[in-house]
Amino acid sequence: MIETVAKVGMPVDETLRIRKNRLESTSGGRGKRVSIVTGIHGDELEGQYVCYAVAQRIAEHPEYLKGTVDLYPALNPFGIDSVTRGIPAFDLDMNRIFPGRRDGDMNEFVAAQIIRDLEGSDLCLDIHASNIYLTEVPQIRINEKHADVLVPLAERANVDFIWVHGASTVLESTLAYSLNSRNVPTLVVEMGVGMRITREYGEQLTDGIFRLLCELGVWTGPAPAVRTPVISRDPNEVTFLNAPVSGIFIKTLCHGAQLAPGDEIGQIVDPLRGQLLCRVTAPVSGWLFTVREYPVVDQGSLIARILHTEPEGGDSHGA
Ligand SMILES: [Zn+2]
Repeated sequence: MIETVAKVGMPVDETLRIRKNRLESTSGGRGKRVSIVTGIHGDELEGQYVCYAVAQRIAEHPEYLKGTVDLYPALNPFGIDSVTRGIPAFDLDMNRIFPGRRDGDMNEFVAAQIIRDLEGSDLCLDIHASNIYLTEVPQIRINEKHADVLVPLAERANVDFIWVHGASTVLESTLAYSLNSRNVPTLVVEMGVGMRITREYGEQLTDGIFRLLCELGVWTGPAPAVRTPVISRDPNEVTFLNAPVSGIFIKTLCHGAQLAPGDEIGQIVDPLRGQLLCRVTAPVSGWLFTVREYPVVDQGSLIARILHTEPEGGDSHGA
């Protein structure tokens, strides 16, 4: 059933509506509730496929559903409609205004309505897609403050990587932080790249969602097998590579590649003079879990993130 989560009249005629699709057990019994949200950032579209795929699988076997699944495909519908990351006209990152305020401005009010609607969920997944600049292997990012609750859940979500961040980097104004603080376990998924849909990642995460639904007793159909993710809890395990010069970045390796020291990740070139400005190489052995997708780079632009691994540990981590 399609329900309206928040509705605000715009100055002239238009109406902002945040909607969800509530899928419930047809055989009675309330069961647990799992909420899947996406589209906070209007240029991140990977979650659109996941919402579609989850709804499709439930429609094929509604008899397996023993609880409630709420799908929120577009928390920032104006952003999605206008290919804008933030909230158009306000130049505002929607993921910096939670938990919002009922008596606040339009955006704060919408944020408060979203929190109110999601409260009481037994699990929430907030699906992001990096941005247009970087491509990511499917991963879940967790603040160490909530790691005890979230890591065991994330291990079932069929992602390749779980990245546990230090508490000092916490952003308290995100949706996930607000929900985790309200005892709604919320997993933040990052995968793929902005403005695109990577179907295989959508299917991979959808399998993970159904595995979690099974474990929560919300789904009685077959539980999908899930991969074992790499888990990083040590910030020293991750190396950030930044562009040493400005220019056009041409990717040599794709995300998911295993690296030996010296391997070329890409080149930065000068198209005007036809010159190779620099080769961007791996300083350590490891796993390339983030790589630059957007070719234009300024000095300092992020090119890659590498998770250190031992050179002998050459088994593929996926992607
Ligand atoms: Zn995002």
